[in-house]
Amino acid sequence: MSDSCARPAKEEAADLARALRERLLREMERGVPGLAAAELEEAQRKARKQSGRQLNPAELLREIRRELGDCARCPLAKGRTNIVFGDGDPFARVMFVGEGPGEDEDAQGVPFVGKAGRLLTDIIEKGMKLKRSEVYIANIVKCRPPGNRDPEPAEKDQCFPFLDKQIEAIRPRVIVALGKVAAHALLNVETPISRLRGNWHEYKGIPVMPTFHPSYLLRNASAKREVWEDIKQVMERLGLPVSPAGGGE
Ligand code: SF4
Repeated sequence: MSDSCARPAKEEAADLARALRERLLREMERGVPGLAAAELEEAQRKARKQSGRQLNPAELLREIRRELGDCARCPLAKGRTNIVFGDGDPFARVMFVGEGPGEDEDAQGVPFVGKAGRLLTDIIEKGMKLKRSEVYIANIVKCRPPGNRDPEPAEKDQCFPFLDKQIEAIRPRVIVALGKVAAHALLNVETPISRLRGNWHEYKGIPVMPTFHPSYLLRNASAKREVWEDIKQVMERLGLPVSPAGGGE
């Protein structure tokens, strides 16, 4: 549970790469992309050397996607329209992990684009004041379970290694586990989500904040208050300014 030990070199390298990317964006806004790009390239080279990784997170994610291929490792392949691999910034500081694609996600191949997805986008954009494109969003399973049922243990076991690789590639500062299925898979526990949420946990040294799934919030609006409390803890951890009002959440 503790995250106070010395941070691993690759975590520091990921932070360095993120900081440089943010600087590049600022420089590009100021109109000197050539200079910033050269600085970014040099810094990424140093970061890769420091972390011992040959590829940057974006390249790693592309490699993982290639390895996944037209996956038929579990029975969920039969009913899917699209594999929903994940979406967002390979250098994201925060990663949201849900359960699995629903109907809209299956149709579009993008996570969290239906009603619950719009609520998650509001949490990110109105609550955290981040752009959705600045975070990374993925699921425990990448193909839609029929009728939106919970994924079976064998399906999670087959798919989870790819999520693990995505997390390893991105090395976010924080993971937000959305709902019971995501929290249980990441934390390897069966504790009810109502008891997990609100407290920090860890996945391979990365702080994890479990909270309620946005689809639960659609049915239980009163739980938005608890989710906002959890998200505020995430924002504090990331050094983001927290407004007491909660940005509309
Ligand atoms: S859910 Fe995961 S393991 Fe199963 S077929 Fe889809 S991509 Fe492959």
